[in-house]
Amino acid sequence: MEKRLREIEEEALAAVQNAAKEELEELKIRFLGRKGELTTILKGLGSLPAEQRPVIGKLANMVKKRVEKAISERLQALASGSGPMAIQGFDPTLPGRAGFPGHLHPITKVMNQVCAIFERMGFSVAQGPEIELDFYNFEALNIPADHPARDMQDTFYIDSKVLLRTHTSPIQIRTMEKISPPLRIIAPGKVYRCDSDVTHTPMFHQVEGLMVDQGIAFADLKGILTHFAQEIFDPKTKVRFRPSFFPFTEPSAEIDIQCVICRGEGCRVCSQTGWLEVLGAGLVHPAVFRHVGIDTEKYSGFAFGLGIERIAMLKYGINDIRLFYDNDMRFLSQF
Ligand SMILES: [Zn+2]
Repeated sequence: MEKRLREIEEEALAAVQNAAKEELEELKIRFLGRKGELTTILKGLGSLPAEQRPVIGKLANMVKKRVEKAISERLQALASGSGPMAIQGFDPTLPGRAGFPGHLHPITKVMNQVCAIFERMGFSVAQGPEIELDFYNFEALNIPADHPARDMQDTFYIDSKVLLRTHTSPIQIRTMEKISPPLRIIAPGKVYRCDSDVTHTPMFHQVEGLMVDQGIAFADLKGILTHFAQEIFDPKTKVRFRPSFFPFTEPSAEIDIQCVICRGEGCRVCSQTGWLEVLGAGLVHPAVFRHVGIDTEKYSGFAFGLGIERIAMLKYGINDIRLFYDNDMRFLSQF
């Protein structure tokens, strides 16, 4: 009986300590009310052995008084706004605001995934400036002065020699100037083009890749990029290589994956073709090697470039690229 009384006291005091005003009334009824356990014990004193009655009676009354005191003190503290947590106008009994943990932006996430896949294949990350010289962005990449990519409507020029890089390819040149083959790099980063619609933003992200060594052939390019596509999308992804043209590679290819939406049946996303373009690639053009003094008799290599936004849109089924940059939490919190 004594033990039970101590338990009641402990339980009541703990409950009262953090109770809100409206809860105090309930606690009062629960612990001190006519049907409460304390009252029942006090009422039943007569049925106890005579020697126990005074001990239990005294203890029960003491517990009752302590609980009453705790309740009235708590009431007072709440009313005057004092007490251990009291700050004027601060109500510790209100429910808390839910936490809002941050997370990586979907573009950053996809960028990290892409880099991780190539790093596992022995590529290391290289970086270069976003404000670039015309020489690195165009000239050294075998893009002649009259090439349409140089047109003012595509390129943000700062002056006639300086511009915002339109692709990550200048990093190929900067790397080959510094490091002699064999080399295997990827170059992730922001690029800029004067273009804006549902599939284009003036700033977007690319990952450039370059591998140079003796005896590098188109088969190496094909193997590595097929592996990449199957890692980033799905191990069963089908890949096809189409002949294409880039000034800095020869031969050049565009790489399509089987449409991730319709699985090749044909849908709006893939314009009924069943295929989606995801990469541009090719064997490094000898003219590019000449600009950086690499012996084309001894070395060969391949290069590729891909758009991170494009991959992210296909991966997550997003149809408007601008969603990535609107900072709408309803969109961003889905990743
Ligand atoms: Zn499709």
